[in-house]
Amino acid sequence: MAGMKTIGMIGGMSWESTVPYYRIANETVARRLGGLHSAKVLLASVDFAEVERMQRDGDWEAAGRLLADTARSLERAGADFLVVCTNTMHKVAGAIESSVRIPLLHIADATAAEVKARGIGKVGLLGTRFTMEQDFYRARLRDRHGIEAVTPGEADRALVHRVIYDELCLGKVLDGSRAEFRRIIEGLVAQGAEGILLACTEIPMLVGGADSPVPAFDTTAIHARAAAGWAIDGPAA
Ligand code: GLU
Repeated sequence: MAGMKTIGMIGGMSWESTVPYYRIANETVARRLGGLHSAKVLLASVDFAEVERMQRDGDWEAAGRLLADTARSLERAGADFLVVCTNTMHKVAGAIESSVRIPLLHIADATAAEVKARGIGKVGLLGTRFTMEQDFYRARLRDRHGIEAVTPGEADRALVHRVIYDELCLGKVLDGSRAEFRRIIEGLVAQGAEGILLACTEIPMLVGGADSPVPAFDTTAIHARAAAGWAIDGPAA
């Protein structure tokens, strides 16, 4: 180890899911290096109400500027690479990447690596409407990684989106919603999904492997573990 790198986390989207990022990155470093080793982390945590308003208004330029400014402050503070602790805000990954010289560890790339390692080519995608319906995530899975993503129908996409913003981002984990997510996962498997991407960093608060008949991929844990890997081994080529 040539000196552990410092992870620059852009978090707070929502803070409920940034907490496990910090814990999992530290647990991974401790497991890899042993003893009292822990992750070097700089965390810039935004006010999610501001970000959510920009999402709702479709003002992705303002959101991109906000996260690019945040990224620059982490770079100035000494971060060696960046991790954006949400799937959705990777919609503005390009704006972030072009504002700094340090690399961004993209959540879809980290997740795709684990999906491919399991020999899976078709996944069910659960996330916000933005992630399920727009191209920034699905196209990256398809074009860079050859992974096909299927999504729930309109009513269930609305349900998943609502549970994320009205429950999970507020720390509410409800059994009734878990039952709905299990039903939706069954439907994705019926569409041919060989794995389920929990592609919203709060969803693992609600469901996990035990709620799915096929492998479930926890993007929060995958991304945080990959960040610890980059910190120890350096960014993957
Ligand atoms: N954390 C969520 C995600 O991974 C949703 C919140 C957000 O819009 O950033 O997509």
